[in-house]
Amino acid sequence: MRWSQAFIPTLRDDPADAEAVSHRLLVRAGFIRQLMSGHYSILPLGFRVRAKIMGIIRQEMDGIGGQELLLPSLHPRELWEQTGRTETMADILFTLDDGRGTDLILGPTHEEIFATIAREITSYKQLPQLWYQIQTKFRDEARPKSGLLRVREFTMKDSYSFDVDEAGLDAQFDNHHGAYTRIFERLGVPAVAVQASSGAMGGSESIEFIVPSPAGEDDIAHCPACGYAANVERATSMLEDVDDGPGLDQPDVFPTPGVRTIEDLVDFEGGAPANRQIKTLVQYLDGIPTLVLLRGDHDLQEQKLSDGTGALDVRPAHPEEIRELLGADAGSLGAVAVDGIKIVADHALAGRSDMVTGANQDDHHLRGVDVERDIGVDEWLDLRAVAAGEPCPVCGEPIEVFRGIEAGHIFKYGTKYSEALGATVQDAEGESIDLVMGAYGIGVERNMAAVVEVHNDEHGIVWPLSVAPYEVVITLVKMDDEATVAAGESLYRALSEAGIEVLIDDRAERPGVKFADAELIGIPYRITVGPRGLGDGVVELTERRSGESEQIPVGDAATGMIERVVGARQPAGPA
Ligand SMILES: [Zn+2]
Repeated sequence: MRWSQAFIPTLRDDPADAEAVSHRLLVRAGFIRQLMSGHYSILPLGFRVRAKIMGIIRQEMDGIGGQELLLPSLHPRELWEQTGRTETMADILFTLDDGRGTDLILGPTHEEIFATIAREITSYKQLPQLWYQIQTKFRDEARPKSGLLRVREFTMKDSYSFDVDEAGLDAQFDNHHGAYTRIFERLGVPAVAVQASSGAMGGSESIEFIVPSPAGEDDIAHCPACGYAANVERATSMLEDVDDGPGLDQPDVFPTPGVRTIEDLVDFEGGAPANRQIKTLVQYLDGIPTLVLLRGDHDLQEQKLSDGTGALDVRPAHPEEIRELLGADAGSLGAVAVDGIKIVADHALAGRSDMVTGANQDDHHLRGVDVERDIGVDEWLDLRAVAAGEPCPVCGEPIEVFRGIEAGHIFKYGTKYSEALGATVQDAEGESIDLVMGAYGIGVERNMAAVVEVHNDEHGIVWPLSVAPYEVVITLVKMDDEATVAAGESLYRALSEAGIEVLIDDRAERPGVKFADAELIGIPYRITVGPRGLGDGVVELTERRSGESEQIPVGDAATGMIERVVGARQPAGPA
């Protein structure tokens, strides 16, 4: 490609609205443009990177027996009603009416469609199956941001596996774990596999692949000592034992004027340390008021509350609602002797006695509370948010918490979707059973952004060779020098003929502009051709990543470059 004819609209300055590094650099280097919030046009350089990412994903999916399909983006709403996801995913669905009375959904994911096709599988002898698609998906994100990281329209590779039993599902899940590990290696992103919440997708087990980055939106608890890693929505930590006193025969009310918070009560004379207090939160779970109890020094992890209770809509109660339910304001709330309101409690409160909690009377608390004796807990759950420095649940060493980008997510669904959609097969005994399903996603543009988040410097993007839009850029320093143009063109032909992806910068620009642009767009190798070097019979080869340059005799430049690029390319397919 000739730069003079290419559409590479680089910008001198960073876009004003961009915080994430990938957002800033992909816009500035001319890879993407925003059409409206959450919707991006992918320009030619971005398109080439995207195609390479899809190529790597495709090879690895084919390598584990995947078969590619192309499915509609518009789905009949009826199908989504059968799985209940018009409700469970309501807040992110784009819906429309086709003008003829049919309600449609713009697919955010394709379980319903794949399971419908899978109804044509009738016998266990046709299993296992592994189907995938690489297609545009739509999600009505309330707050799109960070360029390609949080958008409303994006390309996903989604695969779906169908098996006769759990053992088959386990094998497909493990195959994906391996394929994903290879994909992220080939993309050059250091993704960590972590235990995750399945959220609205459902199912029994899920693993996220997280790329550490401040631009991410997931917090991961990680143990450097043993490798334990889990999304904080799932993560736990070890608790030290607390030695409770003998307590009282029954809770005792005492006045606590002005005490509103856990800390107030710690400081209050006759109060209690935070780990001897019960924190009482009032939450509405799918519209039902619920008391949520935690130890005073622990914080609620909201996704755990949602996962543990199955509630999809979780919100804190308003002050008026709290007063109406409990007869007191936040700050004096408790669950002792509360009847008729659902109570869920974190495991850390199990077996505790001699605790302090609000008395549901303003400016009063109760002491001597025995949790299991005095409170009618309906459900014990893991609700506590973990914090950095707490002991690892596996080995006891301190855990760290880091932020990262979810680059992929794999799920074991079991029979959730096949049951809802009637996808059954006959097993070896002739019995009709539900297909056992798994689903596995990777966002394509999101991974383009993740690569940039990891590979950049003060001059711009530093693409790994595997996904670079071009492998080599030839920079012609002086366009009105015949020898320079002739040598550059000859090199360009030789590299192109050898299958190297090469861009020749033949623009009538100053050398400084050309060098800065080549660095900004991040091409792994630059060959600089100019009169001074040619006078000495050499061209200059610069590696983008290290910034190191070497002089190469003009006559060896083509073969040397070809060998170098071919040697640096990765082998295709599974290792
Ligand atoms: Zn550990």
